[in-house]
This record gives sequence, structure tokens and C-alpha cells, in this order.
Amino acid sequence: MNDVIIIGGSFAGIAAALQLARARRQVVVVDSGTPRNRVADHAHGVLGHDARPPLELLADARTQLLRYPTVRFVQATAEQVVHHADTTFQVRISTGEQLRARRIILATGVRDVLPPVPGLAERWGVGVAHCPYCHGYEVAGQRLGVLATGEMAVHQAWMLPDWSDHVVLLTNARVVLTAEQRAACVQRGIDIVDGQVSSVRGPGRMIDSVVLADGRVIAIAALFVAPRTQLTSPLAEQLGCTLDTGPIGPFIRTDERQATTVPGVFAAGDAARTMHTITGAMADGAMAGVFAHQSLIRTMHPDPAATTLQA
Ligand SMILES: Cc1cc2nc3c(=O)[nH]c(=O)nc-3n(C[C@H](O)[C@H](O)[C@H](O)COP(=O)(O)OP(=O)(O)OC[C@H]3O[C@@H](n4cnc5c(N)ncnc54)[C@H](O)[C@@H]3O)c2cc1C
Repeated sequence: MNDVIIIGGSFAGIAAALQLARARRQVVVVDSGTPRNRVADHAHGVLGHDARPPLELLADARTQLLRYPTVRFVQATAEQVVHHADTTFQVRISTGEQLRARRIILATGVRDVLPPVPGLAERWGVGVAHCPYCHGYEVAGQRLGVLATGEMAVHQAWMLPDWSDHVVLLTNARVVLTAEQRAACVQRGIDIVDGQVSSVRGPGRMIDSVVLADGRVIAIAALFVAPRTQLTSPLAEQLGCTLDTGPIGPFIRTDERQATTVPGVFAAGDAARTMHTITGAMADGAMAGVFAHQSLIRTMHPDPAATTLQA
């Protein structure tokens, strides 16, 4: 019997596993190998690792984790999870193996649902980005576009003048600005271009322009898009975890200890938060690892300081 099965072995999952490994617990990490930012050449804003390729960063993290003898890392997809009456969990993975543990940590991330604009998906992570904190600095001072998928575009456009004086909000027939929003954008120096965007163009995975359905061509060096997001797997729902609706998609409800609404199940990273960054995922993961560990101790030995510490 394992202490904890962590489903998802990327930034959140490895951070959780590290805490549990250091607490000398038996941990299995199950990972299907598709971290969300695998399409990006570099990850930014990560203390001590700024501008490193994300897959390289994860490979180093995995190597360090596997130095701990109580950790097993399995490349597979967790297909089903069952909560038994004796409070243990059973996870069926794509190799056919059945794993059992006392706790589950879901660190399965989210998947991006991009608007179906020709030329956009293949430039995702290079010419097209989701977050100015992650990728704004590299394109600062250039002509930046925001492709509207909904209200979030107005928020993105409002931020971007801190990175460039040339910001274009492409409403793309997806958002109708109120008079106040329009005035606020104009005051912030943002150009508003109404009309549907029919394609994105540029050399390779870069962008040099967007084409509107009426034939207009708008020169742009980088495009920001807030995609809709979906949970990558039905496991949280299988377990009965409560989901909340965020501004761009659903996420698993957790408390300040990363515990979900189902006892024994913790969640961390993009799947359990609304602002999606590597450092946020790592922080959640570390907390999930710590509190999953303490919940294991608590089943045998109630914490004599619990009341005092909570007061
Ligand atoms: C294009 C792009 C660029 C980005 N750049 C940056 C950046 O520069 N800086 C930054 O801070 N953030 C960046 N982000 C955000 C960052 O990628 C996420 O916040 C981060 O990856 C979240 O980590 P996570 O561990 O929660 O999820 P993920 O990294 O998405 O990992 C989830 C893991 O779970 C696995 N998994 C899912 N379902 C299962 C299952 N059923 N069984 C087994 N395994 C499963 C997946 O294979 C994956 O390995 C970027 C995002 C995108 C889309």
C-alpha cells in the first residue's frame, strides 16, 4: 500500500512528491507526459530558472525527485480512481496496473481550448501567448495584439500598455465593449479594431499580422489570447470533488491546505487555481504534499497542538 498517489507529474505534482519523499513516505507519481507549456521554448518568471526550456526544468526536477528511494515515477495515464469504503483509493492506470494508496493528490493541469482561427494553434506558445507576465518582456515595445475570446480580453488589453505603446484589441466579434470600457481603453492608448479575425500569419511559429474577414491586415508582432480551459481528466468528477467556475474554465475547489471537498483527496496547480503560473503550481504542490503528509499522521495520532495552532 502506498501512502500517496500523485496524478500528474509536472510542476505541481513533483513539488508535492518532493515534500512527501522528504517525509520518507511511499509515493507513486503517475504522469502522462504532456505539461501545459511543453509548446513554449522557454519558461519565464521562475526564480532561479528564468528563461529555461520548461521540459529541461521538469527533467531536472524529476531527476532530483528520483534520488529519494521511496518515490516511484510511472509514465502512464490514470484512467479511473475509486474511493473504497475503508478510505483507501484505487487507481487504474493505462499500463493495466492497479495502484492503491491512502491519499490522492490531483495535479493533472488543464488543457487549452484555442479559438478556431486558422494559423493560431501552430503558433501557440511562440507567436501567440496567454500571459504577459510569462512572455510580455520578450516582445516589449513591439506591436502587440489581444485576440478577444470573451471579457478576459479587456483585462489583458488593459495590462499590455505596460509592455508596449502599441496595443491593439481585436474584438473579433466575441466581445462587445461598453461605452465605459471603450473610453477606458482609448484613454490607456489602446487601439480597438472591431471585426472578425479570419487568420493569423507570419514566418514559422512567429506572427507578423492578423487578417480580418473584411480583408484588412493588421501588423502585429505578438498576439495574446485567453483560451478557455478544461480539466485534463474526469478524475476529480469521478471522485465527487466539487468544481468551481473560474473566468476561463472550471477548477477543483480546495481549501487553504489544498484539500478538496472529498476527504483524503488534495489538488494542486492549474487544475485547482484560476491564475496559472509555474510558481503558483509549485507552491500549491508543496502545500498539498505537506498537508497530505500531516493528514496521514493525524489518522493514527491526533495533533495535540491543532487547537492552539488554529486559534
Ligand atoms: C504556452 C504556455 C506558456 C506558458 N509559459 C509560462 C511561463 O513562461 N511561466 C509560467 O510561470 N507559466 C507559464 N505557463 C503556465 C504553466 O504552463 C502552468 O501554470 C503550469 O504548467 C501548471 O503546472 P501543473 O503541474 O499544474 O500542470 P501541467 O504542467 O499542465 O502538468 C499536468 C501534468 O499532468 C499530467 N496528467 C494529466 N492528466 C493525467 C492523468 N489522467 N494521468 C496521468 N497524468 C496526467 C499531464 O501529462 C502533465 O504532465 C504557460 C502556459 C502556456 C499554455
